[in-house]
Amino acid sequence: MGNKSLAIIKPDAMRANHFGKIIDRILTAGFKITELKIARLTLAQAETFYAVHRERPFYGELTSFMSSGPIMPIALEKDDAVTAFRDLIGATNPAEATEGTIRKEFATSVGQNAIHGSDSDENAEKEVAFFFPTRDIQDNL
Ligand code: UDP
Ligand code: MG
Repeated sequence: MGNKSLAIIKPDAMRANHFGKIIDRILTAGFKITELKIARLTLAQAETFYAVHRERPFYGELTSFMSSGPIMPIALEKDDAVTAFRDLIGATNPAEATEGTIRKEFATSVGQNAIHGSDSDENAEKEVAFFFPTRDIQDNL
């Protein structure tokens, strides 16, 4: 199992100023934040990031939403990070998310669900590199 995941605080949660509370949840759950920035994706960049979903019916809505305003990509480290982070964020649809998860508290719909988490170690590596291609911090945080 790997120790990296990529989180993205999505435009809905950025607009609602929920990023401070969400970061607090992430740190309280024992994740180390190794990279963090505010970014804004073009539609083409959102299409590239979510290319794995290009055949899905929600692809157009998802990519226009993800390019609709500022986002906060965050590189995380923890033992078994992908599974631990998906447990912390909860189900894709907030109506199905467990009490106490980030999506249960902050998501408003299955599309506008506040936060992204990587779904595998392989994708975590790719997604961290997508937003943070050059690491300027070494390792002793
Ligand atoms: N999504 C959507 N409608 C759906 C399923 C997913 O708009 O029926 C969006 C939602 O924002 C989700 C993203 O597409 O977070 C990626 O979907 P995925 O199945 O990978 O869910 P996740 O891994 O984010 O829980
Ligand atoms: Mg996913």
